[in-house]
Amino acid sequence: MKIAVYCGSGLGVNPIYAEKATELGTVLAKHGHGVIYGGSKIGLMGKVADATLTAGGEVIGVMPTHLQKQEIVHASLTEIHFVESMHVRKAKMVDLADAFIALPGGGGTLDEYFEVFTWAQIGLHEKPVILFNVNGFYDALLQHFNRMLEEGFIRPEHKSLIRVATTAEEVLALIE
Ligand code: AMP
Repeated sequence: MKIAVYCGSGLGVNPIYAEKATELGTVLAKHGHGVIYGGSKIGLMGKVADATLTAGGEVIGVMPTHLQKQEIVHASLTEIHFVESMHVRKAKMVDLADAFIALPGGGGTLDEYFEVFTWAQIGLHEKPVILFNVNGFYDALLQHFNRMLEEGFIRPEHKSLIRVATTAEEVLALIE
């Protein structure tokens, strides 16, 4: 399968984020999965790509031309697509991927996660969307998901779309 990985363009202050990004890339490649991601060599994005390539996996980058410099393009990818906008990048990643994983990250990561989560809610795709909750990073978000469910803003039948893993092996179990 081809797995879209959304994650920070930063590394985070705790080294556990880079460790788990590396572990995820390695585990995906070892199980024969390719990675689709933003195409950058910086932050957790670079860690996932490096680890997947090192373990013999394929990595496809999708980079908007206006971010080319800022996000410092990874030079050793299996394939890189340059696209004209963020919207085209996100749409292309959705088209190419069979499943989505969000590692810790900032606003960009959350934007990407919520786009594919909400698209699953309205039936635009049926691919799994997984939060990789490294170091309890998404605990507060998961509490807020509960609030949205309790207060009637996420329908009970959509609760199963909130898939959470705390280890790379759990991520693998959810996608396979
Ligand atoms: P971040 O999680 O903010 O470090 O961003 C991670 C990735 O999301 C990077 O590749 C950014 O280019 C991308 N990104 C940042 N802002 C946005 C946005 N508004 N919409 C979509 N992607 C974004």
